[in-house]
Amino acid sequence: SRQKRTPGYEVFQPLMHSKTIERLNIERDLIHALRNEELRVYYQPIITLKNLQIVGFEALVRWQHPTRGLVSPCQFIPIAERTELIVDIGEWVMKTACQQMKNWSLQFPDRSLKISVNISLKQLKDPDLMAKIDRILVGTGWDSHKLQLEITESMLMDDVDDLLKIFAQLATRKIQLSIDDFGTGYSSLSYLHQFPVKYLKVDRSFIKNIYTHSESKKITELIVMLAHNLDMEVIAEGVETTQQIECLRPFNCEYVQGYLFSAPVPVEAATKLISEI
Ligand code: C2E
Ligand code: CA
Ligand code: CA
Ligand code: CA
Repeated sequence: SRQKRTPGYEVFQPLMHSKTIERLNIERDLIHALRNEELRVYYQPIITLKNLQIVGFEALVRWQHPTRGLVSPCQFIPIAERTELIVDIGEWVMKTACQQMKNWSLQFPDRSLKISVNISLKQLKDPDLMAKIDRILVGTGWDSHKLQLEITESMLMDDVDDLLKIFAQLATRKIQLSIDDFGTGYSSLSYLHQFPVKYLKVDRSFIKNIYTHSESKKITELIVMLAHNLDMEVIAEGVETTQQIECLRPFNCEYVQGYLFSAPVPVEAATKLISEI
């Protein structure tokens, strides 16, 4: 059983101890995961609400672990973010996704799809970030204006001048920014207009209850209005039902993403989606 925490002391807790070992095990295996080619990129379509066309994909990493099976990013990204591993993993995801997008652009020359990649704060603050991005774009031949980076709201609480410099470098490359999980982070509403953000992604928690709870619906409407007032476009995350779609329509939300259309899927299944939707 758990003991009460004494302020100022780390009390030994068997439960916490085994969690620490688990974390260290994952960290140890993760160091080899990249080299052993155990990571995978899955692709989830982003779709226009108006005529339900695929406009692009979000790249989401998975880990095909030799004994644990397919591991969710929730189980290893937070661990990677505590170390420098996230920098290499993030670079690998971006490179793999841009290469795949290039392949799809050759296979589907009449489509103009974009790719959205999640970026952690450590990556954003990596002094080599721009060099790495440029190397990936040159290496894969993918157009920078069809690359979008997803950052979370709380990352905007970092040093504003630092961020503005980084964002300016991204802007010269026409790389667009999205705010992920909007509405769940620290409120940075007063900052929002300072940053060159193109998309707001309304967090799944609001969409989940949009049909059943009028509060969620009102908050979602407010977020869409805020975004439009700031000349941003809105992506509703976690759309699972047609009722949710109908709730979003009157708000003129631009894009939707969620299981209703497709979960994140491997390359072959994503290829099928492009040719079907
Ligand atoms: P996220 O960026 O908010 O990604 C959306 C998550 O919602 C994904 O979980 C996706 O599978 C899930 N999702 C999409 N549609 C639905 C839906 O209709 N219903 C429900 N219940 N869930 C839906 P996933 O792939 O497990 O990723 C979890 C988180 O891990 C991501 O949240 C992101 O924060 C992080 N992550 C994933 N890949 C990367 C990466 O390459 N780099 C970084 N830094 N973080 C990543
Ligand atoms: Ca995301
Ligand atoms: Ca999200
Ligand atoms: Ca999230």
